[in-house]
Amino acid sequence: MNQHIHCIVNDCHYWQQGNKCAANEILVSTDEFGSSQPDRIDAAMANQLTPAAAGSCMSTCCKSYVSKDSNQINADGIKRMT
Ligand code: SF4
Repeated sequence: MNQHIHCIVNDCHYWQQGNKCAANEILVSTDEFGSSQPDRIDAAMANQLTPAAAGSCMSTCCKSYVSKDSNQINADGIKRMT
């Protein structure tokens, strides 16, 4: 798969010029899951997580988002590719 993730959230550690996501993997979840789970629960353990319905795009989020100046950048095992 040759996937490109485009993102316009420019305070994320993984965001790059040209509105690209440079994370080696990301996890998209419901807002409920994203707000209730700690940073270490993320894409690396996706195959262990239970899927759930969101209902609309407004109820989904990028669980892999981490602020550029956060001390939790390495909490989830996701790598920046460049
Ligand atoms: S991890 Fe999520 S929020 Fe961050 S750049 Fe990638 S898609 Fe955007």
